Amino acid sequence: MKDDEIRELYFKYFNEEKLPFIQCNKCGYRFYYPRVFCPKCHSSDIEVRFSKGHGKIFAMTKIYRKDGSHVVYGIVELEEGFRMYSNIVEESQADIGKRVELIFKEINGKKYPLFRVV
Ligand SMILES: [Zn+2]
Repeated sequence: MKDDEIRELYFKYFNEEKLPFIQCNKCGYRFYYPRVFCPKCHSSDIEVRFSKGHGKIFAMTKIYRKDGSHVVYGIVELEEGFRMYSNIVEESQADIGKRVELIFKEINGKKYPLFRVV
């Protein structure tokens, strides 16, 4: 599999409301960013798996708009042991360590994974 093929596969899974991640079968490392080699041991013996979508906020930034509203960007640590960068939707206050769950938002006919504070 090539880099662009694995990225296309990610978008296909997003549209099915699935959150993929990659597990290295050689060293066991799990990561989100779509690539064809393990970033730890450089093995190409990798497989795509799916996350249940439960995690917690590992790091975050709030960006305030002129109208006083804000958006939250964060790094979410999933229960499967990988981290990903994402938007966080606030239904209660977002903070480091708070639990989040996966939701999908459709933008221009494509679905994207986001998280909401639970
Ligand atoms: Zn590896």
